[in-house]
Amino acid sequence: MQKKLLKTLILLTIISVGITAIFLFIGLKDYCFKSVRAYISYNVIFFKMLRSLMTAALFSGVLALFLWGRISERIFFPLKEMIRVTKAYANGNFAESIHVNYPDELGDLGETINFMASRLQKSMHELDERATRMESILRGMVDGILAVDNAGRIMLVNPVAEKMFNIRAPDVTGRYLIEVIRNYELNEFIKASLKRGIVSFKELIFLPDEQILRVHVSPIEDFSGKTLGIVAVIRDITELRRLEKVRSDFVANVSHELRTPLTSIKGFVETLLDGAYKDPNLSKRFLSIIDFETGRLNRLINDLLDLSQLETNQIKLQIETVKLPEFVDEIIAIFDARLGEKSLSFSTYIPDDLPGVKADPDWLRQVFINLVDNAVKYTPPRGKIWIEAEEKGDFVEIRVCDTGIGIPGQDISRIFERFYRVDKARSRQLGGTGLGLSIVKHIIKSLGGEIKVESKVGKGSKFIFLLKKAD
Ligand code: ADP
Repeated sequence: MQKKLLKTLILLTIISVGITAIFLFIGLKDYCFKSVRAYISYNVIFFKMLRSLMTAALFSGVLALFLWGRISERIFFPLKEMIRVTKAYANGNFAESIHVNYPDELGDLGETINFMASRLQKSMHELDERATRMESILRGMVDGILAVDNAGRIMLVNPVAEKMFNIRAPDVTGRYLIEVIRNYELNEFIKASLKRGIVSFKELIFLPDEQILRVHVSPIEDFSGKTLGIVAVIRDITELRRLEKVRSDFVANVSHELRTPLTSIKGFVETLLDGAYKDPNLSKRFLSIIDFETGRLNRLINDLLDLSQLETNQIKLQIETVKLPEFVDEIIAIFDARLGEKSLSFSTYIPDDLPGVKADPDWLRQVFINLVDNAVKYTPPRGKIWIEAEEKGDFVEIRVCDTGIGIPGQDISRIFERFYRVDKARSRQLGGTGLGLSIVKHIIKSLGGEIKVESKVGKGSKFIFLLKKAD
């Protein structure tokens, strides 16, 4: 712009000098050409005038240059600087500032722009901070967050919600919720919530995994209280509901397991009191039933206590190196009488040089007792029971085997559950509590190992578990 002005100034100077020269030439020509002398004097005058004009032109040029310099310095340079700096602001670069130190309007404008930029920078910084804080809150939340505008279009989705509904925020933002999450109940609930504009919640089941989601919605309002949409906080409560069911099933099972022997004991005690005690044979039979049921109650309570300790990690394991050959021999001695009663054969296949295992001897004893007890219970007379062990990498694999009734394929995955029995009546009749395998599984897990079962109905079962090898 200042170049244009400079050009105009120079052009104007040249034009004015040119026009003056033409007028002078025409005027003097008519007046002076009347004689030779006059002609000469005309020339002298003309050249004098021309010199004056040239001087004037030179003077005007210098003046124009001076004026241009002053105008540039006072107006164009500051304006150019302001344009450069405001462009930098527009690109988000607030490191620049305007340096105009004149005590005039341009100086004021420069200062105002600087002040405005620092306010803007501060506000943007605050906004950035708020957005970062918000983002980390949304990222850190264990619940899914889904914000929907009044038209039902998705405004925001956090990573948990992305995972829950298998969607990606950039793909779904701005799209209608109904197109993105095809769940009729959820869409109806969101629609109703948008209409009502109040806080509410609902539990919804999502197929095909039967995921149970608790959706809590509240309206999003602007400063004037106008509703802009709703935000839904979604929590996956599938596991919670499952645990609640497990707990209530457990309580029901425990009550049932306790009531059965108690009812039996009470019945026989009443019968005895009613006079049966007078008959020695009857008394003996009833008392032995009472003894059996009391034993079952006792075992049940002990098993429940063990299980609760194991499940709540209350046990302090005393880890030692356990040498299996001697350890197993000691345990089997406990079963001698029962093995004999059923004519069951028992053998061990444990190499003498087998490395020891890292275990708490008391809890490991419980594992062997429970497994061998089951083998004895579920193996018909004249069957075989044996224990094998061998080194497997950093572990020792132990197998407790029998030629018993076996476990049907569909029950195998569930027999380690509390109170799960293939045949309830048979287990009860044999004095089982339904907790033995559950306890075994927990102990082995606490010892850093794992257990599985291989079984064939009518052929027998193999309970195979790993224990860490001692160093
Ligand atoms: P229980 O007190 O009923 O024996 P457990 O937890 O020890 O409870 O075992 C659960 C169920 O697993 C048993 O009721 C039985 O049906 C089955 N089971 C366990 N061990 C064996 C085995 N060696 N042979 C056949 N079935 C078994």
